[in-house]
Amino acid sequence: MVVSARTDAVAGKRSRAVLTTAGKGETARVLILPESGMVSLGRSSSCTYRFEEASVSSVHARIAQVSGQFIFTDNGSTNGSFVNDARVTEPVVLKEGDRIRLGPNYLLRFSLVDPDEEEALKRMHEAALIDGLTRVFNRKHLEERLDAEVAFANRHKTELVVIVLDIDYFKRVNDTYGHQAGDAVLKHIAQIVQNCLRAEDVLARYGGEEFVVVARGINLSQGCAFADRLRLAIARSSVNVGSQDLQVTASLGVASIHCCTSERTKTAFFEVADSRLYRAKEGGRNRVVGWPEE
Ligand code: GH3
Ligand code: MG
Ligand code: MG
Repeated sequence: MVVSARTDAVAGKRSRAVLTTAGKGETARVLILPESGMVSLGRSSSCTYRFEEASVSSVHARIAQVSGQFIFTDNGSTNGSFVNDARVTEPVVLKEGDRIRLGPNYLLRFSLVDPDEEEALKRMHEAALIDGLTRVFNRKHLEERLDAEVAFANRHKTELVVIVLDIDYFKRVNDTYGHQAGDAVLKHIAQIVQNCLRAEDVLARYGGEEFVVVARGINLSQGCAFADRLRLAIARSSVNVGSQDLQVTASLGVASIHCCTSERTKTAFFEVADSRLYRAKEGGRNRVVGWPEE
């Protein structure tokens, strides 16, 4: 989540206001405050910046930009907001280097940076989340997102689906056409899947030729229909590698959070999808396993 802005009143070198976050076990995020107006911080999905942490209130605090100053206000949060360890009881003008705490656990740092520093921060932030070859999220980010999504689905009793996708006989592509052709296929598959996603879905490269999609708000049947659309889109496409047009297929395992038989943890949830992927391979590949009647 990176939103850009520049302020007039603090124009000059250090003109961008940035919040860096370091939630427990979470990859640091760089939030660049918008040019004007107000942002909200909290647990609710309606907030500009969302923090999936139980001790953060749904709309915990706000930051408004007024005449080039950044004004922090607590929104009557349950656990309070603190700037440099002082509880915020009235609006506070933020200064370079201020430490903001939302409740007991969630720390943010407010800083002003110049455009070069902003670019460097964005690149660092991106490198920590994105797979270099396919430009989709990496496994580390997936693990974090899945933790957050499972917690959210359990708390709010919402639907959540995970799809594990593995390219069929991918080793043959490498062996026959070379590693570069293999890389081109990986990029191609990532692009095809990306094109099928809704804005709220998350796609990550889980490992070599294995991808994972996390989709909120859909049930198992809808998840399987979605997975089958992905399967078809892949099977019907081809990728040019040198003088050849290659076609590949993929196998997919689908699980809904409700498929967990005992506890609804990330690990249990993921294992259901992974075991279904294994069955899709065993069943002949180029197929989806997970349909409710299966
Ligand atoms: P299956 O249908 O059972 O999934 O067979 P498979 O050949 O796809 O699976 P296998 O696990 O035998 O082979 C996966 C191959 O993926 C082996 C590995 O060299 C290759 N691979 C992993 N990462 C990359 C990568 O980044 N680029 C390329 N070109 N190949 C990769
Ligand atoms: Mg494979
Ligand atoms: Mg594999």
